[in-house]
Amino acid sequence: MKVRKGECKRCGKCCRYLYIGKYNPKDVDEEYLRARGLIWLTDGDGLVRVYANLPCLCYNEEEGPFPHCEIYPARPLSCKAYPVSEDDLIPGCGYYFVEEDEEKEKPNEEIDDNSTGGLAEPQSSSTTDSGE
Ligand code: SF4
Ligand code: SF4
Repeated sequence: MKVRKGECKRCGKCCRYLYIGKYNPKDVDEEYLRARGLIWLTDGDGLVRVYANLPCLCYNEEEGPFPHCEIYPARPLSCKAYPVSEDDLIPGCGYYFVEEDEEKEKPNEEIDDNSTGGLAEPQSSSTTDSGE
């Protein structure tokens, strides 16, 4: 059984990017994803993870000293519990999962918001994640 380690880095990726799902590469049409403005990357398991750059309506990136959730004290349980499992993890999240008896820490892979490193980006933007 795996346990969660790490901590929230307040990157905002889980609030900004909507995880669509994992797909077999042979089922992925990159032209279609690009045309729809979706973002994708190949995970360690060889599957393709697809995200939409669709910030939560409660995520305020414009006002205040830093991006924040406008309903943070009353945020949904799914937000409070994130990430529940490895499948939930958005690349670059400060949390990661290890086997219960495993002491060695293994940081989550990073997604660079300012580049397409590992990501195929829509032509119009150059970003990739979501957060809290
Ligand atoms: S923590 Fe707040 S801003 Fe982030 S997804 Fe949840 S409700 Fe939206
Ligand atoms: S993705 Fe969300 S939970 Fe993970 S570090 Fe960023 S804000 Fe925190």
